[in-house]
Amino acid sequence: MNTREQIYKALQKVEDPDLKKDLVSLNMVKKVEVKNKHISIEIVLTTPACPLKEFIKGKIIDAVTEEIGNDYELEIEMGSSVVGGAPSAMLTSCKNIIAIASGKGGVGKSTVTANLAICLARTGAKVGLIDADIFGPSIPTLFHCEYEQPGIIQKNGKNMIVPIEQYGIKLISIGFLSSPENAVVWRGPMASSALKQFFGDTDWGELDYLFIDLPPGTSDIHITLVQTVSVTGAVIVTTPQKVAITDANKAVAMFQQPQIQVPILGIIENMAYFTPEELPDNKYYIFGKNGGKQLAEKHKIPFLGEIPLVQSLRESADSGYPLSMKEGFISDCFMEIAKKIAQNISIKNTTHNKYKP
Ligand code: ADP
Repeated sequence: MNTREQIYKALQKVEDPDLKKDLVSLNMVKKVEVKNKHISIEIVLTTPACPLKEFIKGKIIDAVTEEIGNDYELEIEMGSSVVGGAPSAMLTSCKNIIAIASGKGGVGKSTVTANLAICLARTGAKVGLIDADIFGPSIPTLFHCEYEQPGIIQKNGKNMIVPIEQYGIKLISIGFLSSPENAVVWRGPMASSALKQFFGDTDWGELDYLFIDLPPGTSDIHITLVQTVSVTGAVIVTTPQKVAITDANKAVAMFQQPQIQVPILGIIENMAYFTPEELPDNKYYIFGKNGGKQLAEKHKIPFLGEIPLVQSLRESADSGYPLSMKEGFISDCFMEIAKKIAQNISIKNTTHNKYKP
């Protein structure tokens, strides 16, 4: 057995803990090169946001060292190619569509969406965001582009909307279609046709993840969404107090209805507790404790994590520079949740045989 074969043998012993198969049979080994005492291995994971990246890398080092000894210089590249769900005819270049919903308004759904999109983009994924919240399109403010107007280009004889690109994310908002001072009162059918245009008539290019910031509650927009594209999964944002949880319950029920049937990727508890910036260890459960966690347990859906109520998050949202663009505790909370979402999507897509080993 030559060294290259020995390395493959070692990689057959390294299992992806989520996908429960070894890296070779998952077709994740892209390259193994041996040049004298230098070995270079290239692995392709199912998402750049894989929370197990470092863990898997460690297992590779252990397995290879055990097989061939430590007389070699090991170079391991952990790359990725995002695994997609069922493609939507209208949007074939987009691998995954993630709907962000809430029962109640004002629970921080848009703030959470903006920060999650930024986190996934920071891992290297290609990310887009559609702001479909007709009652309060806040994405333009959150991304500091309130006065931008998307351009139009001709592609194959068809007029296509060009999304605004900000902080590495492609954005389209129902808010771009009217000025912030003169908010249009969107009626259901108008908003639904705008959403369809955002899918079918927008030049998105290749996207790994497209987030949809939905209006709170249930509306025509939700129906249009599921009738227009194949939604990979929904994430529900709630705050812990009873009135919010009651409405979040309804949101869960809506996605589980037979005519909707969108898998729920998990629940996020926002404003889980208040923490003053100068006393980060002090936690005040002003809206109650664990409401989101209990909702997840009740419905047997993943609990993705909690985000505290902090002044800087509100300030960064108002100024249009989401907190997740820089390092810090809140940014870490969002990153952990974003990675869990990407992980859940990878598992779902792989176990539904969309991933071809
Ligand atoms: P929704 O989209 O659910 O209507 P928003 O994202 O617009 O809610 O948030 C409502 C308000 O709450 C905004 O002013 C936002 O800055 C603020 N906010 C959201 N989450 C937090 C948080 N965790 N800490 C502090 N302020 C928050």
